[in-house]
Amino acid sequence: MNTKIVETENVTVSFDGFKALNHLTFSMDVGELRVVIGPNGAGKTTFLDVITGKVQPTEGRVLFKGKNTKKLAEHQIARLGIGRKFQTPRVYLNLTPRENLEITCNRRKDVFSSLFSSSSKDEKHKVIGLLETIGLSAKADIAAGLLSHGEKQRLEIGMLVGQSPDLLLVDEPVAGLTDEETYHIGELLLALAQSHSILVIEHDMEFVRQIARQVTVLHEGSVLCEGTIEEVQNDPRVIEVYLGQ
Ligand code: ADP
Repeated sequence: MNTKIVETENVTVSFDGFKALNHLTFSMDVGELRVVIGPNGAGKTTFLDVITGKVQPTEGRVLFKGKNTKKLAEHQIARLGIGRKFQTPRVYLNLTPRENLEITCNRRKDVFSSLFSSSSKDEKHKVIGLLETIGLSAKADIAAGLLSHGEKQRLEIGMLVGQSPDLLLVDEPVAGLTDEETYHIGELLLALAQSHSILVIEHDMEFVRQIARQVTVLHEGSVLCEGTIEEVQNDPRVIEVYLGQ
């Protein structure tokens, strides 16, 4: 059995000759919570883009659950089991959190038919569980537009989890959040990490310290170093890269 959820082997992504990723070799185990950090322009977003198939490698290959994703379109890779959370929350503001979750937990139906047809008992149960997990049971039936930014972020994470992805990619989930909201997102990701493989990109070092077990530092499109948060924070190469910003 393949124990790696995602691997990049010697991946280079060139934009007009500029290497956003430069022979990047990375792997992450099934069930791991990994945090990827790095200064601006290090290649973090491109790294997620290459995993999801939004961007094709110029060189090297990407494996998801041991399968080379080269010939697959972005939606086909997503269907293999990748859920991606972008920085800004993408939720239906006029619908309630419960309705948002009902729609995404039942991908067989489109948005309209899932709104106007009743959910099965199992689906309703799943949504109730998700509302609890994301801490929004008390606000399940108000318009999502009334939620705080942090609550919307948690709702979107719940919507992705409702699709039962094998890998959850989370791009800077706490940008613009208060300390308290940031802490809630951290606790949510730690709870989800008990049963999911999660890759988080983040800038906020306090947050990284809250959630990180293994950290990968990207710099100029390559892995600069990997280790526990203590190891990478004390690595002279990391200190130099961050101080040099
Ligand atoms: P990060 O997310 O770490 O800030 P990015 O992956 O966004 O880094 O970008 C890495 C580098 O690649 C940056 O210098 C950026 O300007 C460049 N880059 C990213 N996407 C493109 C693109 N579509 N065309 C040209 N250059 C790009």
